Amino acid sequence: MKTQQPYDAIIIGGGLAGLTCGLALSGEHLSIPLKTLIVDAGPALEDRQPGSDPRGSAITRSSRTMLQTLGVWDAVADQAQPFEKIIVTDGRAVTGERPALLSFLEAGDTGTASAWMVENSTLITALVGRVQQSPGITFIGNTAVENFDFDSSPAVVTTTGGHQFSAPLIVAADGRNSNARKAAGIDTVRWDYDQSGIAMTVAHERPHNGRAEEHFREAGPFAILPLTGNRSSIVWTEQTTAAAKLMKLSEEEFLDEFKTRFGNHLGKVTLASDHASWPLSVQIATTFVGKRLALIGDAAHVIHPIAGLGFNLGLRDIAALSDCLTDNVRRGLDHGGQNCLKAYEAWRRADTIMVAAACDGLNRLFSNSVQPLATVRQAGLKIVDRLPPLKAFFMDHAAGTAGRQPRLMRGEPE
Ligand SMILES: Cc1cc2nc3c(=O)[nH]c(=O)nc-3n(C[C@H](O)[C@H](O)[C@H](O)COP(=O)(O)OP(=O)(O)OC[C@H]3O[C@@H](n4cnc5c(N)ncnc54)[C@H](O)[C@@H]3O)c2cc1C
Repeated sequence: MKTQQPYDAIIIGGGLAGLTCGLALSGEHLSIPLKTLIVDAGPALEDRQPGSDPRGSAITRSSRTMLQTLGVWDAVADQAQPFEKIIVTDGRAVTGERPALLSFLEAGDTGTASAWMVENSTLITALVGRVQQSPGITFIGNTAVENFDFDSSPAVVTTTGGHQFSAPLIVAADGRNSNARKAAGIDTVRWDYDQSGIAMTVAHERPHNGRAEEHFREAGPFAILPLTGNRSSIVWTEQTTAAAKLMKLSEEEFLDEFKTRFGNHLGKVTLASDHASWPLSVQIATTFVGKRLALIGDAAHVIHPIAGLGFNLGLRDIAALSDCLTDNVRRGLDHGGQNCLKAYEAWRRADTIMVAAACDGLNRLFSNSVQPLATVRQAGLKIVDRLPPLKAFFMDHAAGTAGRQPRLMRGEPE
């Protein structure tokens, strides 16, 4: 049976980006909330298994402000570990204490941390809880959207079951292989790193004291990111074939390999979650908008996780889109029209390219042992360490406070 239901916005995908976008467009913080539908190919909200994503996310200060404004942060705060200190080392010397090439004092310096580490399972649980309380959002799970008609006004989407829904605006939050992006004929610029990122949570004997560590090894960065308690979130980069072999090891063998990289400065270490790996690539859509379509999150951009900024970029997309839409809605204009979408595109694409290029450059500079590059990077890090203005520049980017801030990231509901 086919149904035609009008919404103000339809979000394809209910991952981190899709759920947050639903809250941003339909929330009580707006004087004219949009009636929003989220359609997700994954399980219904009540059947979500949060533990299925063993990653953590570094949430920048401006992203935290946004999650506070959307009423999500209260459910996360107890399990969010502030970064008290960040150290960066040349991790090729993996035995014993590695000399720090660069150190950032965090909360101790400024009174406020620039980022907090939160497990993705905690984030998903908090977002799901908030979406369930939101009368303006309808969520349909176990349903993939197959077909898109962007030429009709409003646009129409058709699910695999043949149901149809319509809205003036479609938001693609369906991840890196976005069907919506492909259906709109939007290309991507893409390259693979021949690296995979293995992610998991570990428990250790000694406290980390809020210290985040990034060790640059030849195969790529090895990050130890502090979680609450004596636990850390790991992103362990290896070349793709090496990572595939590691993923086939028994848990005991895997842990033995892990320990040789992790070192012993935090005492005895055990696995505290499943581990999974992701192929690492850069992928940027050639435009972030189409007719009646806005791309957000990984549907618009995938970047190297070296600086933990992927989801933070997605949050910035959502906050910018929310600004553009509410300005149009308040003036009684078509919020799925080209004026609104062009403003979103102009705001987000250049910023994304800059961040993606910076992460790409860092990865290329650090993930090799060519001697001239090794010398340059060591000199570069030492210079940054000694110059407070340069450090401040890096800290602003790490905190997400550089550049134009959308209202949700300034803590202004509307
Ligand atoms: C190892 C690693 C570590 C990372 N660490 C960080 C970090 O510290 N900080 C940070 O900010 N970012 C980090 N990131 C990036 C971050 O995890 C991603 O940017 C984020 O998860 C993307 O979320 P998303 O909702 O855009 O996409 P996804 O999580 O891929 O969600 C897409 C959703 O769309 C649904 N879907 C797909 N197709 C359809 C369809 N046809 N119809 C309906 N639904 C559909 C799927 O079911 C899914 O729920 C990391 C990434 C990696 C790989």
